[in-house]
Amino acid sequence: MGRHVPSACLNAATSRRSEHGRILNVSGIAGRPAATERPGGILQVRVPLPFSLKWVNSYLLRDERGYALIDPGLHTAEAVAAWEAVMAEHAVDFGDIHTILLTHQHPDHYGLAGWFQQRSGAPVYLSAESHAYAQRLWGRDKGSAFAADLTALYALHGMPPEVAAELRPHLDGFVAKVEPQPEVRFIEAGETVRLAGLDWRTIDAPGHAGGQLCFYAPEKRWMICGDQVLPTITPNVSVVPGEDDRQLERFLTSLRELAAYEVELAFPGHREPFERFAERAEELAAHHERRLEDIVQMLLETPGSAYSLCMRLFGERIAGDAHHMRFAMSETLAHVFYLEQRERIGRSPQEKEITYIVKGKRDENR
Ligand SMILES: [Zn+2]
Repeated sequence: MGRHVPSACLNAATSRRSEHGRILNVSGIAGRPAATERPGGILQVRVPLPFSLKWVNSYLLRDERGYALIDPGLHTAEAVAAWEAVMAEHAVDFGDIHTILLTHQHPDHYGLAGWFQQRSGAPVYLSAESHAYAQRLWGRDKGSAFAADLTALYALHGMPPEVAAELRPHLDGFVAKVEPQPEVRFIEAGETVRLAGLDWRTIDAPGHAGGQLCFYAPEKRWMICGDQVLPTITPNVSVVPGEDDRQLERFLTSLRELAAYEVELAFPGHREPFERFAERAEELAAHHERRLEDIVQMLLETPGSAYSLCMRLFGERIAGDAHHMRFAMSETLAHVFYLEQRERIGRSPQEKEITYIVKGKRDENR
């Protein structure tokens, strides 16, 4: 059974150098340069992250007016220093940035949007659903209700109180890394945006983050895919309070839709631009199908809570790490809820905490 941590997993990135990239020299991350020129006037900037993901990809898309900036990164001193170096090397001034565009609201993508807006005056675009989530976490009440609701949800599903207690400071730690909050404008699926001299169709891509958008340029068959389809690592699919609890269903549906696009080059939020887009989307769907079957088998052996399944799936690799624990627990809930919605599993009425059992246990499941 595959044991690995979702989203923030540590798989070594492939070191294959893309035939699409010209490698540039500003001090970078994990032996990689800080920025790589891609076709069509697209500059991939690797913005450092203080987690095992190592970096988030920001993209600067050049046109006759200057640059659109996609997903500027998490607001840390290291990220700011990396940006200053890359902008100096490529002679990009803040005033050259005319648009800031966010694929989704996760802090490693959204965190520097307000900082760049203050310096460039550029409008920040994201979907209304993404913005609503960002407001709940980092808006006026600074996530207090979210953290309480999240730990209550986890406790209901078997997480011990001392483990849940570690999540609060972890969540609070993100607030400073997404300040200042940007003034935003909304962009939605079905619209067309002009970036790097190309028309890009906006596509709804939920499941990893409600409200996430991908951008597709049919003329070149390029896809800016946020964290929806990542090469070499598996995007996290999470259930969190206040959001639709059908995240895995939404994710799998989105993967099927995205796999129908003809894509020659995909620009992901992490790791490197890649070519096998539809195949990768199908691999990710198959990964989740396998995990669903693993969970059914585990519950056939021993009924248990979502937390017990989380520990069986992800085990010691997440113990004592609040960041990984949160991803692993929310990902386990996404799978458990999916199976429950399909009536493959149900809740045992005898137990105090929510305990799952396989429904209509059949011999062929053994
Ligand atoms: Zn994300």
